[in-house]
Amino acid sequence: MHDVTYLRPTDLKDAVRLYRSTPECRPLAGGTDLMVMLHAGTFRPAPRAVLDVWSIPELKGVRRTQGMLEIGAAESYTGMIRSRDAHEHAPALVAAARTIGAAQIQNRGTLGGNLANASPAGDTLPVLLAYDAVVVTDRRAIPIDQFFTGYRRTALQPDELIVAVRIPLGRHVAFRKVGTRAAQAISKVVMAVSRSPARVAIGSVAEVPLRAARAEAALARNDAAGAVGAVADDIRPINDVRSTAAYRRAVTQNVLRELLHAPPRP
Ligand SMILES: Cc1cc2nc3c(=O)[nH]c(=O)nc-3n(C[C@H](O)[C@H](O)[C@H](O)COP(=O)(O)OP(=O)(O)OC[C@H]3O[C@@H](n4cnc5c(N)ncnc54)[C@H](O)[C@@H]3O)c2cc1C
Repeated sequence: MHDVTYLRPTDLKDAVRLYRSTPECRPLAGGTDLMVMLHAGTFRPAPRAVLDVWSIPELKGVRRTQGMLEIGAAESYTGMIRSRDAHEHAPALVAAARTIGAAQIQNRGTLGGNLANASPAGDTLPVLLAYDAVVVTDRRAIPIDQFFTGYRRTALQPDELIVAVRIPLGRHVAFRKVGTRAAQAISKVVMAVSRSPARVAIGSVAEVPLRAARAEAALARNDAAGAVGAVADDIRPINDVRSTAAYRRAVTQNVLRELLHAPPRP
């Protein structure tokens, strides 16, 4: 690994100033994605500096504010799992956090890191889509359905920091992840579903975590069986080392049926 300058801001204002004024700089939160990629030499372009956002007070914590649940971008999965507010207002996010890695990764991994990394298999991302979350940055609020712009690409500007994620209160979202094992597995299919409003959000089945438009239209008509049929046309699964496209298509339909308690096909 080449030499990298380490920057440690004291607060959000300091972080924004440093990030904007340091060329070739990347934020470092828990480091569970970034450090792995830096060591492997796969982070492109390789940064010359990292901005450690882990301890910035404004990026920590889970709280209720303005009718929303707000989760700091640098809050860990363990912090979410331990939060009473998260259990009460975003239990599907807690369920997703529990499936991420093992305790070591849950202690360090953050929501901001999962979002900015933008892996199609990121486990919190369908949950945030199903909740209609809002990504709050140092300069604006980005609706989650406008956040993922392509494979591992986001709407973030090169010097834009994620500060928090806001989730509307009073939503009911069901979550399910299918991997090779019950724990420590990257998703083959990961799904979050809300009946009202109709939201069907899925990861690992396309180049981005997506909302399944045809399935949602059927669900909005209260046609659960129709949603299960339609979802196969919403996704763009590929064959890769973890699974085949055909398997992912079948599992997507099975998981949606299960989450909706829809009757099996005749
Ligand atoms: C063993 C192992 C198991 C894992 N298992 C899972 C799993 O089951 N499910 C899953 O979804 N992921 C998994 N991951 C991936 C990883 O843990 C998550 O994506 C985690 O949420 C990343 O958060 P982080 O804080 O560690 O991000 P970092 O590695 O610090 O950063 C990741 C990216 O986000 C950027 N970034 C971080 N914070 C901000 C911010 N505030 N604003 C702007 N950009 C920012 C960084 O610059 C970098 O590009 C696993 C990783 C490992 C090593």
